[in-house]
Amino acid sequence: MNDRVIGILGGGQLGRMLALAGYPLGFRFRFLDPASDAPVRYLADQVVAPYEDHLAVAQFGAGLMVATYEFENVPVATARALEQRAPVFPPPQALEVAQDRLAEKRFFTQLNIPTAPFAPVDDRVSLDAAIEQIGLPAILKTRRFGYDGKGQALIRQRTDIDDAWHALGGQPLILEGFVSFARELSVLAVRGQDGAVAYYPLVENLHRNGILYRSIAPAPGLTDDVQVLAETYARRALEALDYVGVLAIELFAVDTSHVAAAGARLLANEMAPRVHNSGHWTIEGAVTSQFENHLRAIAGLPLGNASARGCAAMVNLIGSLPDTTMLLALPDTHLHLYDKASRPGRKLGHVTVCADDAAQLTERLAVVERYVLASTR
Ligand code: AMP
Repeated sequence: MNDRVIGILGGGQLGRMLALAGYPLGFRFRFLDPASDAPVRYLADQVVAPYEDHLAVAQFGAGLMVATYEFENVPVATARALEQRAPVFPPPQALEVAQDRLAEKRFFTQLNIPTAPFAPVDDRVSLDAAIEQIGLPAILKTRRFGYDGKGQALIRQRTDIDDAWHALGGQPLILEGFVSFARELSVLAVRGQDGAVAYYPLVENLHRNGILYRSIAPAPGLTDDVQVLAETYARRALEALDYVGVLAIELFAVDTSHVAAAGARLLANEMAPRVHNSGHWTIEGAVTSQFENHLRAIAGLPLGNASARGCAAMVNLIGSLPDTTMLLALPDTHLHLYDKASRPGRKLGHVTVCADDAAQLTERLAVVERYVLASTR
């Protein structure tokens, strides 16, 4: 038994940033990922095998202090099998909920966390019934394995129904009412093994083609009551799951005049039982990064302060890289590359820009975005 080795299921950029945050704390890392070119390949030991390979999972799990995951489509059975060898945090039940959009929406509803109206869709008859119930516009989504806007079809009007059904039918689906949100926010919270909880300030997120493009933290114009409401929702989810680690919940901020359920200013869209892209700004922008806090939580250490140091914005580098030398010449601008081959729509890295106040951030962000947009495909 090695009391310093943390096992991580998934070897993508989130795993890479977890390891980079963990080395100063004296941890070592072992990854399981089927891709031999995973972003962690030069950083730590990696077992290259499918998540379903029992022998590989046993080899990966041998002697770990604790195991976690950085990818929420890891099979729940693998996480549960690992529990025979080491503690696994967050609890596999959180994976189970987050892997199925219907289970996730029902989980939020049970906890009195408002969501868009939703209904399960298993066949064409139930699609018609769901549209009757929810109305249009609505979004048809696959229940499982959807990410970055994949597996979704917008149904604006009745003539769109057949196309949406042809695109997605034949697998378990969910229909959600289309939310005309004012903006998208996310709340990141971390819970330790002793039940202590720390919350990061709410982040404003902008998506393009269903992929996160930019986050600003703290969210501009954030008021205390919205922060408190988001924290209340996050705490309910954390406690219901007896959660340990970082949890992210993506929220739609709505203008209450548009929402039937009076007072529902924040609607939960989905949750990620792991560190999250909208928390990358915390590396330079918060007292303790989401990556370090996740490791502190799962290792049973005290949580670090989650306050922002000032204002920060993060811009994803998607598809191809901009002139990174130019970016590095900008004030308080930080580059993170994930060691991934370029491919359209792929997250290759991110840039975080920090500032003393919102006005300075707006100015600096405009310059960063000009460079980044010049290269994005
Ligand atoms: P998701 O995969 O559920 O995170 O969806 C990706 C993006 O699609 C979200 O970040 C929103 O921008 C948009 N979206 C998803 N669900 C809805 C909805 N019910 N109403 C409006 N926009 C949505």
